[in-house]
Amino acid sequence: MTKTISSARADFPILKTMVNDHPLVYLDNAATTQKPQSVIDALVDYYTHYNSNIHRGNHSLAALATQAHETTRGRVARFINAEHKHEIIFTRNTTESINLVAHSFGDTFVKEGDEVVVTQLEHHSNFVPWQLLCQRKGAHFRVVPFTPDGDLDLEVLDKLLGKRTRLLALNHVSNSLGTVNPLEIIIPLAHSRGIPVLVDAAQSVHHIEHDVRKLDADFYVFSGHKMYGPTGIGVLYGQEKWLEAMMPFLSGGEMIDQVTVDRTTFNQLPFKFEAGTPDIAGAIGLAAAIDYLEQFDAEELAVYEDDLLRYGIGQLGQVPGLILYGNPIRRSSILPFNLEGIQHYDVGVLLDAYGIAVRTGQHCTQPIMDRLGITGTVRASLALYNTREDIDALVQGLKRVLKMLKR
Ligand code: PMP
Repeated sequence: MTKTISSARADFPILKTMVNDHPLVYLDNAATTQKPQSVIDALVDYYTHYNSNIHRGNHSLAALATQAHETTRGRVARFINAEHKHEIIFTRNTTESINLVAHSFGDTFVKEGDEVVVTQLEHHSNFVPWQLLCQRKGAHFRVVPFTPDGDLDLEVLDKLLGKRTRLLALNHVSNSLGTVNPLEIIIPLAHSRGIPVLVDAAQSVHHIEHDVRKLDADFYVFSGHKMYGPTGIGVLYGQEKWLEAMMPFLSGGEMIDQVTVDRTTFNQLPFKFEAGTPDIAGAIGLAAAIDYLEQFDAEELAVYEDDLLRYGIGQLGQVPGLILYGNPIRRSSILPFNLEGIQHYDVGVLLDAYGIAVRTGQHCTQPIMDRLGITGTVRASLALYNTREDIDALVQGLKRVLKMLKR
């Protein structure tokens, strides 16, 4: 039996919270999503009943914790349809996953004079690590621009993917504009030239397609906390052939095979990339989040979220002086806007007085703001528990802001 979307709100205890004497209207989901009771319970259950360090213990609790942690890895592998469980590396978040690849892949495969291609639609986390890699290696950092509608310029992308390109890194969904990048076109294009692709799925894995084999992503990264799971746990999926060829990123306990005074040999995958005690509770919470998400019919969820986004675009269009940014061919979950003549920061603060949580500023995407010639936006971002009433509350809030400022 699939779960109905209308029943979701009741699963998130925080949504009953009052903020500034108003019921919370949570529209900051691209920053982090709220957690269902089942995820909270999984964390409490772990710490209450079987907290223990994993892999090295020979007592019962260590065995239970190790089993739970490793079961989680299989759960994640099935969720994104990875071929092997050992292609799932646990990290802290998307940012760490990308840094791992920028260092480990970069050190092995990127040489002086080579090129790394990213896009101007990236979060800083999928921009700066590549820029720094190129600086370290004397390689060229190439950036694909976007069109006035907020779509990637595929003609420029085509030109930039050349003989010296060692990697293309791009997101599936932009956290600032909501653009859904056409990976079904881009990844085959890169692969036809022998170029591997890293997909930043932080804003997509819980909203749209996340089958890594169908996408044929070489690397695929996301954060637990943006998909109804806990903070502190992230995922790097990498195809076995790449992970095998890469050097470790962090070193220390667990990632070793043999350590002598002269040299160290490395553990097998995935442990080669998991130095130190991992976020055991986080991984268990992430598995609970996946279990939660998979109770819904994926198709039905996609239709619901798309419909809500369209409703949001339509309703925001009724607010006098509201500028909505981007009009991409396909958009997911993000509503970026400004009120003419009013600072985005002020809009955020005033909305908060009515219990409405949005994010304001650059959203870690300064290159996007530079291209748009603005200092930032107000960003409302949607999750499966949001409703048309939330959008109505936002619109009402914005009208009150305008009235308060007498516009
Ligand atoms: N990439 C994208 C597209 C994001 O939206 C974010 C978070 N806003 C990140 C990367 C970084 O995620 P984290 O802070 O969890 O590492």
